[in-house]
Amino acid sequence: MIPIQVVRVAPPRKTHLLQRLGDAMRRHARLIRALQWMVVLFYLALVVLPVFLPLPPQGASVLNNLTLFAQFLFWGIWWPFVILSVFLLGRVWCGVLCPEGALSELASKHGLGKAIPRWLRWSGWPTVAFILTTVYGQLVSVYEYPQAALLILGGSTVAAIIVGYVYGKNKRVWCRYLCPVSGVFGLLAKVAPLHFAVDESAWREFSGHAARVNCAPLIDMRHMSSASKCHSCGRCSGHRDAIALEARWPNQEILAATPRDASTPDAILLIYGMLGVAMAAFQWSASPWFVALKALAADWLIAHDSFVLLQDNAPWWLLTHYPAAADVFTWLDGLCILAYIGTMALILGSLTLVCMRGAARLAGDIDWRHLTMALIPLAGLGVFLGLSMMTTTHLRAEGVTLDWLGPVRTFLLSIALGWSGWLGWRLLWRQQVHRLASLAACALYCMPLLAVWACWYLLFFVW
Ligand code: SF4
Repeated sequence: MIPIQVVRVAPPRKTHLLQRLGDAMRRHARLIRALQWMVVLFYLALVVLPVFLPLPPQGASVLNNLTLFAQFLFWGIWWPFVILSVFLLGRVWCGVLCPEGALSELASKHGLGKAIPRWLRWSGWPTVAFILTTVYGQLVSVYEYPQAALLILGGSTVAAIIVGYVYGKNKRVWCRYLCPVSGVFGLLAKVAPLHFAVDESAWREFSGHAARVNCAPLIDMRHMSSASKCHSCGRCSGHRDAIALEARWPNQEILAATPRDASTPDAILLIYGMLGVAMAAFQWSASPWFVALKALAADWLIAHDSFVLLQDNAPWWLLTHYPAAADVFTWLDGLCILAYIGTMALILGSLTLVCMRGAARLAGDIDWRHLTMALIPLAGLGVFLGLSMMTTTHLRAEGVTLDWLGPVRTFLLSIALGWSGWLGWRLLWRQQVHRLASLAACALYCMPLLAVWACWYLLFFVW
């Protein structure tokens, strides 16, 4: 009799389409790397080449002038749609396409590999960096002039390479702790419907051999519960049969019973950075209040025979200075921009902060930082709308009719307000307090929503 040997075959792992997509990202890492390097070249060309060209003459078009073409591509298409992509796909931009991240990781591969110091790990850096670069960008007119763009973007890239070279081995220390937009992307990724999910029990029970994964942004993959820090690079897809690309309800992370990664720096970035500074930065050049402020200050200076601040002798890297384009800021211009952005950010931000804290207190058992995360749709779509103003400016200059713009903006603002309003209501209404207290909390929560709506309404439909 021939003995029958029973061979136990492990059942094949059930995979769905997204999981297979994530696994394909891991398998085709070289292809992703090649794509990344193409973006690096494209980015360098867009940032560097226009600096060596004369300013666009009157009547130039994005179709026949490289500087205008680069401006349109960079500020009109690239940035608004990167923001939108993070909303929809998570931080795929960071993990798959970002040129700065790729360069920083390459430098880290060949660098000194030093331990990351404590000061660099401070969670407030992305907030500080976002606010400073936003304000500085306004002073030097980063959207209009190639030198200013090279200074800010190129400076950031050089810093990313230096940090990568000095700290970590094969990592993206810059992206994790210092990048000026990493905080904003981290907030937006919280509502992305796609994310790399970890099944902790599958991780524990896995008994085979698992190859080491290099998670460049230094995430504790096993305990990753938020999409905020994950760059969606796909390198860990299928790791220990526990990590997979998955779809989720966009509100899942915000409505989670326990707040995930809702830190004070995140809340401050959202309140003062995205709702305050960014809004004021998009608004000041169209604001009649800014004109009134400047006129008042200029009158006062002239009445007091003080003309120092009315001079326009600041260098271009401090204040906009392009006499050939008849675009020169005086010291007073610079101070008024700072005053306008600072005041608006303080008013809007502080109103939001007080309302969030008050609403959370009234509702009882909810952390104000957790409640603040409900404002992500409003803040994120606001940044998209603000950046897309560059797109529409270029399209108008090209003679494109934009009759549809008003309704589209109204539609997007309505979605943002409705989404944030609904999230806030869900978070507040489920608390175990008297219904009157819940109502008062909801009313308080709605106040910054109305204030932000009023700011956009003035900018898009009144001024
Ligand atoms: S956890 Fe790390 S390795 Fe995995 S997808 Fe996110 S960034 Fe990439």
